[in-house]
Amino acid sequence: MDRYVVIGNPVAHSLSPEIHARFAAATGEAMAYDRLLVERGDFARAAHAFFGGGGRGANVTLPFKEDAFAFSQSRTARAEQAGAVNTLAAKEGSILGDNTDGAGLVRDLTANLGLALAGRRILLLGAGGAARGVVAPLLALSPAVLVIANRTEERARELARRFADLGPVQPAGLDAPGEAFDLVLNATSTSTRGEPLALRPAVFAPGATAYDMAYGKSALAFLETARAAGARPCDGLGMLVEQAAESFLLWRGRKPETASVIAALRAA
Ligand code: NDP
Repeated sequence: MDRYVVIGNPVAHSLSPEIHARFAAATGEAMAYDRLLVERGDFARAAHAFFGGGGRGANVTLPFKEDAFAFSQSRTARAEQAGAVNTLAAKEGSILGDNTDGAGLVRDLTANLGLALAGRRILLLGAGGAARGVVAPLLALSPAVLVIANRTEERARELARRFADLGPVQPAGLDAPGEAFDLVLNATSTSTRGEPLALRPAVFAPGATAYDMAYGKSALAFLETARAAGARPCDGLGMLVEQAAESFLLWRGRKPETASVIAALRAA
């Protein structure tokens, strides 16, 4: 049976095995999908061992997306653009790297949540692996501005420079963005570690949507702050399922249906 894994640290919490098991059952694809916990600094050895042993593909999560970029032997245009890889596939004797985070987020925002973002103001908090993957697809929605705000401001500046040709993108420090935004995306890892993220309530424009890329209990603190400021709270479960569907398409050549999977995971 074709073998797939999600590689991360931590990885025990990952819902990816359950999502791909549901996709496989719905499409009739024969595949096994497990979690692979890897120590920091050990990514290349572990990935080499997995693919050397016949593994067909991997999802890559925190903190290894930049390691996966370096490990892949060829890359899709969107992975190259992001400088981060969240999906690896064994293709014709070599390892292809892709980045499905941006497509997954945009599909959740537009198709599932019904947001129209052309001409809107977007604030992206964070400049790590997840943020890198979503900047270009967000700019493709033609927002009025995309502000990238990060604790380490230099990383926000580096990302803004990287994507400057694609649309109106500006860097800021975490406490710096002085205006209100229609969509505030939390792509920091504070939620997954239960760390506080101080935000001015005025950052949310009237009718704003607050979206945490983390999901379930992890997203609660950020989304409670947003709700108290009058914003519509959304967690990243839909993005997780949508980016997984894009990975599944790359691996198996079939795009699984997602709405029922999101609903089932939400109910559980
Ligand atoms: P990274 O480790 O690559 O980046 C972490 C980011 O968080 C950096 O910008 C970092 O800032 C910032 N950060 C960390 N600690 C703090 C803090 N105490 N205060 C302020 N900022 C902080 O993580 P990823 O980008 O891979 O993941 C980010 C989040 O997105 C996670 O919650 C992850 O689970 C989620 N995610 C969800 C997906 C989905 O499908 N729903 C897909 C991908 C990610 P600095 O540069 O200053 O260190």
